[in-house]
Amino acid sequence: MLIGLKEILKLAEARKCAIGAFNTPNLASIRAVLAAAERLNEPVILMHAQVHEEMGLCKMDEIAPIMLLMADKAAVPVCVHLDHGTDLGYIKRGLDLGICSVMYDGSELPNELNYANTAIVVEMARRYGAAVEAEIGSMGARESGGESGESIYTDPEEAGAFARKTGIDALACAFGTAHGIYLKQPKLDFARLNEIKSRVDVPLVMHGGSGVKCEDYKKVIALGIRKINYYTYMAKAGGTAAAALADKTFFHDVEAAAVKAMTDDAAKAIEIFAN
Ligand SMILES: [Zn+2]
Repeated sequence: MLIGLKEILKLAEARKCAIGAFNTPNLASIRAVLAAAERLNEPVILMHAQVHEEMGLCKMDEIAPIMLLMADKAAVPVCVHLDHGTDLGYIKRGLDLGICSVMYDGSELPNELNYANTAIVVEMARRYGAAVEAEIGSMGARESGGESGESIYTDPEEAGAFARKTGIDALACAFGTAHGIYLKQPKLDFARLNEIKSRVDVPLVMHGGSGVKCEDYKKVIALGIRKINYYTYMAKAGGTAAAALADKTFFHDVEAAAVKAMTDDAAKAIEIFAN
């Protein structure tokens, strides 16, 4: 069943766990993530990332209606979210399509502009009954699947002021994770996360959730992370399974192998996040 971001994060807060949030740029990954969530009977978040459309994958207009339809039919609570919206017009189109919540990413802008645009998105989303996640600090390159970029750690004082002044419902903060494939094991700044948590009243979000050590997931969840964005390693599992398939004559066989591997990878992540 379809559920909003605030509601799904409330479930996470009550259980002191984190909800897995997966980018689903195609039907295969939607099927994999929902199968994993239903296998474990856990809530889940499906995300469309603006950058995936820019990379030539499904357009939001094509994939969002399918995400919403399948979320609605799912046996577990599912939120459909726009990930890293950098463009206010694009975010409005997502809201018009019925997406439950949006992330506005102004992290690469000067702070004043990030504040101002985030507040505009919050006001716009309220008219649709939708929730808003935003980011202060930066986790480097977005969900484009490349190697991790430079990360600018979130300042705890700034995080508190940003969440209060903009009225957001969830805050993405940078404390050592990055997007894409890690070239070396990430070193997370738990003390910083603890400081951020003490100054911010809304649920905290960790991006770059693929490739983090199991015990580190447990630590960040204990420190208040309630949504973990995860994509790269699931997509990699699908790619590896497709490449290993002996007979690749028919695309439907390649896709089925990828769906199976992505389901297993997503289930592993959801199980850890569910604590
Ligand atoms: Zn992200």
